Amino acid sequence: MTIQECLQNLVEIQYLKREEQKFLLAITNEEKRICALKDQRAAKEKEIETKTQRIEKLNLTLAEKNYHEKTLELKTLREHLTRAVRVEEETLLNKSIQEFTGKLHELETHFFECIEEEERLNADIALCKEFLLGIVETEQEISRDVASNIEELNSKLQGLFNRQKSLLQMLPPDISSRFLAISKKFPTNPISSIHNGACKTCMMKMNSTMVSQVEQKMSLETCPFCDRILLPSHI
Ligand SMILES: [Zn+2]
Repeated sequence: MTIQECLQNLVEIQYLKREEQKFLLAITNEEKRICALKDQRAAKEKEIETKTQRIEKLNLTLAEKNYHEKTLELKTLREHLTRAVRVEEETLLNKSIQEFTGKLHELETHFFECIEEEERLNADIALCKEFLLGIVETEQEISRDVASNIEELNSKLQGLFNRQKSLLQMLPPDISSRFLAISKKFPTNPISSIHNGACKTCMMKMNSTMVSQVEQKMSLETCPFCDRILLPSHI
C-alpha cells in the first residue's frame, strides 16, 4: 500500500469517526425526547401530590364540624334566653350570644373558604390527571418513534464501525497503530494538513524539509507540534 493510499484511507476513517460522533449525538437527542416527557410527567404527579396534601391540610370535615357545633351551641343559648327570668341572667346570655355569633361568623367564613379552596384544588387535580392521560399516550407514541430511530441509527453506526475496521485492517500495522494512538488524543481530528507552510490545525510554522517530505508523500509524517498526521496539499 502506498503512502498516498494510506493517507486516503486515513482521511476516510477520520470522516467515518466524525459521522460516528454525529450518530451518537443523534441517539442522545432521541433519548432526551423521552427524558423530557418523563420529567413533565413527574412534575405533574408531584403537583397532584402537593395539591392532595393541601386538601388534607384544609380539613374541611373539621371546619364543618366546628361550624355546626357552634350553630347548635348558639341555638341552645337562644333557647335559654327565652326561658331566662332574671335580668342578670338575661344580660349574661345576651353577652354570650353576641360572642358566639361573632365566633360563628368566623367559623362560617372559614368553612366556606375551605369549600372554595377544596373545589379549586380538585379542579386543578382533575386538569393534571387529564394532562397525565395525554402525556402517557404521547409517551407511548414517542417511545415507539424513538425506539425505531435509535434502531436505525445503531444500524448505521454498525455500518460505520465495520467500514472503519476494514479500512484499518488494510493499513500496514505500524501505520494503523500510530493512527489509533493519535485518534485517542484527537478523536475527531487526528489528521491535519499543511497550509502556507504551517500545520492547519495548530497553526505552527514548519521547516521546509518537513513540508517537502509531506508533499512528496514518501513517508507518513506527523506535525512536530501537535502530533497530528500531516496531509499534503493534494492527495
Ligand atoms: Zn500541528
